[in-house]
Amino acid sequence: MSCVLQIGAGGVGGVVAHKLAQNRDTFSQIILASRNIDKCYSIAKSIREKNLGEIICDTVDADNLDEIIKIIEKYKPKLVINVALPYQDLTIMEACLKTKTHYLDTANYEHPDTAKFEYKEQWAYHDRFKEAGIIGLLGSGFDPGVTNVFCAYAQKHYFDSIRTIDILDCNAGDHGYPFATNFNPEINLREVSANGRYWENGKWIETKPLEIMQTWAYPEIGEKDSYLLYHEELESLVKNIPGLQRIRFFMTFSQNYITHMKCLENVGMLGIKEVVHEGQKIIPIQFLKTLLPDPATLAGRTIGKTNIGCYIIGSQNSKDKTLYIYNICDHQEAYKEVNAQAISYTTGVPAMIGAKLIINGTWSKSPGVWNLEQLDPDPFMAELNIQGLPWQIIEKTND
Ligand code: NDP
Repeated sequence: MSCVLQIGAGGVGGVVAHKLAQNRDTFSQIILASRNIDKCYSIAKSIREKNLGEIICDTVDADNLDEIIKIIEKYKPKLVINVALPYQDLTIMEACLKTKTHYLDTANYEHPDTAKFEYKEQWAYHDRFKEAGIIGLLGSGFDPGVTNVFCAYAQKHYFDSIRTIDILDCNAGDHGYPFATNFNPEINLREVSANGRYWENGKWIETKPLEIMQTWAYPEIGEKDSYLLYHEELESLVKNIPGLQRIRFFMTFSQNYITHMKCLENVGMLGIKEVVHEGQKIIPIQFLKTLLPDPATLAGRTIGKTNIGCYIIGSQNSKDKTLYIYNICDHQEAYKEVNAQAISYTTGVPAMIGAKLIINGTWSKSPGVWNLEQLDPDPFMAELNIQGLPWQIIEKTND
């Protein structure tokens, strides 16, 4: 019997729990715990209404190491899936190490007081996880996650050497609100308003926020303005794809989104340091999160599609080639299946797939802390097609 403990019951958490429940042959017992148990109950109700059986709901404060250890000891899961926030990564990893339980997350550790993410502190767990015989799977969402697997798959089957990678993240969905973010507003706005960064010829090049814009043509969507951001998978792919000369990450934003974000930034609403408002201490970006629509509630009203993929240039058998490997996800289809919009869906499905490959032994043979491109991409790619995120390849070889 394989018990799994999921921490976090937001937009992404709702999808993960539904997909776990759709795969009962692997996950026979599902525990969903979060800060607010009512959110867990409402996900459990939806799972029941879809005839996917029962899950157990509980509470945990994942900032508190003792509480996480206690809940792990209570249910003895084989794996903890962390879909709370990046702030909790290290505490949950520490609890997994102490209880010898596998660990998985979808986002790189960030300290609440510094809008900066890097893998250093999570990679530092590698030797201790290895010694304890457990896996720590880092960034098993879409980007990071599927994009890392796409790169590994392209490297294994399509290239002798890869020169450049552009990761392209296009959300052409429309939720009808003047302004909203499609995943946790605090995490999203910290990421987008930060300096950009890309890697070329052996060094990192820093840009001002949204300084570089390119127009890319996305299959089934069309041309979209796409802005260069720093994204966490760049750090691990630079290490793990040998011979890489350049890697960048682009995300689409509408002018409307950028205008709103700039305005909020200019008036100080994206601030992450405490300010005193009429005698009350508040953190501006957290207050803004309270005002903005909860991303989970965008689900029913978002129409359109996402297209996320990797545009790769390199060579095979001495011939130059380009390859675009991508997935298209429809917001309304995701809503019909699991009451979510496509951003939560494209993150939650890969989290479940990573969990499945650990639990069924496919990816748990080498204990340690891994990014997804370090493991065999083939079983993950096969599961994407089965679990609702089919991928496609456009390949062009230059003679
Ligand atoms: P939400 O804010 O919607 O949900 C977060 C959930 O975690 C909420 O249920 C929240 O509880 C809970 N939580 C927060 N702090 C704690 C805590 N200390 N203890 C227990 N539970 C806690 O976020 P999303 O679902 O949008 O995002 C979840 C994660 O997915 C984030 O880390 C995000 O960065 C990542 N992500 C990854 C992507 C990828 O492709 N790799 C893409 C999109 C998101 P409460 O309701 O009480 O606040």
